[in-house]
Amino acid sequence: MEYYYEIDVIKRMISIYYSDIPFDKDNFILTESQAIPISFNDMIYLIEDYSYKSYQQEIKELSDMMTQNISYGKKQNLKVSEQYKLLCIKYQTNILARICLDILYSTYETNRNELLHPNFKKPIKELVSDPYKKAEGEISSSYKNIEASMKQLMLISENNFTNIFNSHKLEFKGVQVDIDNRRMAVLYPLTESFTEFNHLFINNIDISALKVYTCRHCQKRFFEDKDTAYCPAAECQEAKKKEAEKLKKANRQNSPYNKAIDEFNHYCHELSYELKEKKVDEETVGVFKEKCAPYQNDVKMEISTYKDSLKPLPLEIETYIKEQKRYVKKIYDDILVQLGLKCKRGRPRKK
Ligand SMILES: [Zn+2]
Repeated sequence: MEYYYEIDVIKRMISIYYSDIPFDKDNFILTESQAIPISFNDMIYLIEDYSYKSYQQEIKELSDMMTQNISYGKKQNLKVSEQYKLLCIKYQTNILARICLDILYSTYETNRNELLHPNFKKPIKELVSDPYKKAEGEISSSYKNIEASMKQLMLISENNFTNIFNSHKLEFKGVQVDIDNRRMAVLYPLTESFTEFNHLFINNIDISALKVYTCRHCQKRFFEDKDTAYCPAAECQEAKKKEAEKLKKANRQNSPYNKAIDEFNHYCHELSYELKEKKVDEETVGVFKEKCAPYQNDVKMEISTYKDSLKPLPLEIETYIKEQKRYVKKIYDDILVQLGLKCKRGRPRKK
């Protein structure tokens, strides 16, 4: 299996394509269905997974098994392929592990095929004295490359994906590939250049000014281009909303402007509540509320001019609000008088 990847910084995604046909074939076309999309945030989890899980050890054991068994030459080596398949199933949701396993297995397969079908047409200088030793060496160097790449990724992750090595000096050899006959994408081969992948990934993070933050709610790390305390997970965004509302409420309670507005609204609300208490019908209460609305709006507008410029509220505002309260109270009284619940001089009528 050959792997190719595309890094999309805008979408914060890495698409890993897999194919049985190597790159250099003509009319090389990949389809979207051959891609495994991983978000940058998922990369963090995959790398963390590598540091916690036992598969570091398992990959090493598989590589040892390969070097030991390749010497059996033409014997069918079921043990190795069975162990490989077993690990592929075990780590099928972890693309990083799968790539490591596939790189190792394809090195093993290539070398085994060479041992089974030696190419005697090769120039004499390419023929080695001990082909088994050569195969063992290639497998163990493939394993060492994988291990170094993974250790490098873990180090990058521990450093929150900051540029810890100079990736600008590296040349990234991408190839333009047709995806579904619709889109030309620049893909990079992953099989031979796992280290290059690490550099390119970091390089892209650097250029796009993405930083790693730790979510205040779920404690997971995530990429973002602006300082933010919550990751994009739905439940964390919900927690963020709640926190914002709490803050807004606290700010509101402390703001002298909102306090004044709230106090006036509360006064109007209390009066309509009193009307209900006096068994005034709902329609009339509605009329009262409607008549209050313009006053409430006026008070809000009046205070807003101070709020917007953050000027302290002057004494005149207090006088102004008192005056507005009197107007509203007058509407209230008029309703009571109209309904015969209050005489014009202001004393309630005796029952
Ligand atoms: Zn979170």
